[in-house]
Amino acid sequence: MPGREILQLGNPLLWQRSRRVEEVAATATQALITDLRDTLASFRETTGYGRGIAAPQIGVLQRAIFIRMQPTGFCAALVNPEIIWASQQKIELWDDCFSFPDLLVRVERAAQVKVVYTDERGAPQTVEAEGDLAELLQHEIDHLDGILAIARALSPSAFATRAEWQRQLQS
Ligand SMILES: [Zn+2]
Repeated sequence: MPGREILQLGNPLLWQRSRRVEEVAATATQALITDLRDTLASFRETTGYGRGIAAPQIGVLQRAIFIRMQPTGFCAALVNPEIIWASQQKIELWDDCFSFPDLLVRVERAAQVKVVYTDERGAPQTVEAEGDLAELLQHEIDHLDGILAIARALSPSAFATRAEWQRQLQS
């Protein structure tokens, strides 16, 4: 499971909106899900972090993401995910992304969300999330709309390199 190359900040595909997946059972869709799962696993093996990936990050403009909370917890391919409810309550956090792995961005996200999606077998599913999973779902679904975390920076100074973040800001 070598995984696919992950597009990096500067690649214009990352700013494009992805199309809906029409057929979950299609060979191409199943191959995409496998690629997302393998690429996430490979990234995590290399770097020691990473919990989610979106199809446009491997150059496929289709609405599919893969999430694996570590070491246990929610693990699923989410096809055509949609946030149907988000709490008024917000959380602030330092966000990162495979597409700019050395940059941390301070963003605001809803504290809780409710997401509907189709699973890899084609069944409709709902997940209610809070905390880490809630912010991850918002980050990955943003990718499907061509929105990167840097576009949600709270201010022009809401950035840190990973090295500096580890030195100064990690609490
Ligand atoms: Zn990302």
